[in-house]
Amino acid sequence: MLNKLLEEVVLSVVGKSAVGIVDLLDTPKYINEFVIAKKLGITINQTRNILYRISDFGLVSSVRKKDKKKGWYTYYWRFEILKCLDFLKEHLDKTKKEVRSEIALRNSKTFYVCESCGLEYGEDQAILMDFTCDECGQVFTIKDNSKLIKDLEKSIGKIDEKLEVVNAEIAKEQLKLNKKKDIEMKKEEKEKQKKKEEDKKKRNKLKKEKEKLELKAKKGKSKNLKIKRVVQKKSSGKVSKKSAKKISKVKSKKRK
Ligand SMILES: [Zn+2]
Repeated sequence: MLNKLLEEVVLSVVGKSAVGIVDLLDTPKYINEFVIAKKLGITINQTRNILYRISDFGLVSSVRKKDKKKGWYTYYWRFEILKCLDFLKEHLDKTKKEVRSEIALRNSKTFYVCESCGLEYGEDQAILMDFTCDECGQVFTIKDNSKLIKDLEKSIGKIDEKLEVVNAEIAKEQLKLNKKKDIEMKKEEKEKQKKKEEDKKKRNKLKKEKEKLELKAKKGKSKNLKIKRVVQKKSSGKVSKKSAKKISKVKSKKRK
């Protein structure tokens, strides 16, 4: 069904000659424009013309990839399904509106017709022509619009049927997109959680290292304090020979 709707979109945007591109562009993966040209049996320029015209309405998207050997860029394309469906819906709504206003016009105004020429005129025009045909001189008759109105009403019914189908496809497509988004969000959440845990591990490691360093620094400080005390004792003459030896030993060690 979707395929038929997409065909209708391409038909109204480009024309019948381009309808063959629908099967190629209705793909989850982007398709190389040279592949499209080859499969359609047309030149790359003709292919691009079609793609650009569809792209003018935002109904396709593309990515470009650089050819490592040749150094130029190649474009890859695919349909934007939801946008195509929205486009079709809008198109149908517009047509419906036009048909409705035509029905209203036919119901409210009188139309005149020359039976022999089959030409139809509105009231103002008919008055100007004095209700007589310019071509054959026959006097106009009032047109019976009932069959036309019936046909128009039928066509509204058909548009409504199609709109229902389009809306169903839109709902399907949105569901698909939401599922995809859900999966992506869960993946993101998982990655976030992973990063959080890694950060926590890193922080703990840093904390431990810091504690170790602090402990070392503390030990060093108490050693320094001991030296200081001994030095003080020495300067006051209360230091023993043994202590003096120890001081010089510690001092030389410190210098190193
Ligand atoms: Zn006539």
